[in-house]
Amino acid sequence: MNYIVFDLEFNMFFKFKEGDLANPELKNEIIQIGAVKLNEQLETISSFDLIIKPVIYRRMNPYVRRKTNINTSRVVQGTPFVKAIESFSTWVGEDSVLCSWGHDDILALRDNCLFFGFDDLSFNKFINIQQIYMKYGGLSKQPSLESAVECLAIEIKTPFHDALSDAFYTVDIFRKVYDRSVDAIINWDKVQKENEIKIEALKQLINKAIIRCPQCDRVIEKNGEFTKTKKYFAFGCCTKCDIQIRHISRIIQKNSEYSIVSNNTIIVKSEGLEQTLSENLNRPQLKPELP
Ligand SMILES: [Zn+2]
Repeated sequence: MNYIVFDLEFNMFFKFKEGDLANPELKNEIIQIGAVKLNEQLETISSFDLIIKPVIYRRMNPYVRRKTNINTSRVVQGTPFVKAIESFSTWVGEDSVLCSWGHDDILALRDNCLFFGFDDLSFNKFINIQQIYMKYGGLSKQPSLESAVECLAIEIKTPFHDALSDAFYTVDIFRKVYDRSVDAIINWDKVQKENEIKIEALKQLINKAIIRCPQCDRVIEKNGEFTKTKKYFAFGCCTKCDIQIRHISRIIQKNSEYSIVSNNTIIVKSEGLEQTLSENLNRPQLKPELP
């Protein structure tokens, strides 16, 4: 069994001119795959590095360009995604475990595979190296790759935010924190599908959310509602308190458990009014001038 430690760089939407729109089907388009193959002793066998030519976000988002040092003229000469992923998949081979720093890269890898109709890559064995590092260090907040490299006193030889360079740093971390006696391999594909079912069930519940007046706690009638991905919005008016209410319910994930968090807030009738109110409160009272 081999370990495939991979890292990705993405390009994403940027409004270059009026009328530019993001493609909701693909938010993060892969522009670089970097990966290192390790044997069971965690020794390096080979590496993989490809620049991918984007077809959705062809021009480099300036923030991404600054961060990764990858410019448009470089990606234009890149390999088309399907060709790149085919060679990656062949290079990965049978009996391999995909490993990455956090969940973002594996999520984006699957999204890109789905978008481009490539289904030969298996996601049923995955190791989240960030999670292992967090357990190792007793951390509750997700650390950046840079901070882990610094904490473990790993020598910085190449720049961060290059997929292959980041994959090598992730390997360095992996070697320091991986305890082979603990089974860290998860069936990511299965977990992902189970999560989707849970989210779907919660979405059904969210639509039945009750909206309450935050002032008198009465259940109030909805006069408008809409759902946006994992969020549900509803509006209403408390006739007793004479206030407008906005309700937001959203699905949150904490330690792989999903739940709904609801919030009712009072809508201030107009920003202008609010401003006037606070201005009046802050302004020193003028005493009437005595004749
Ligand atoms: Zn009320």
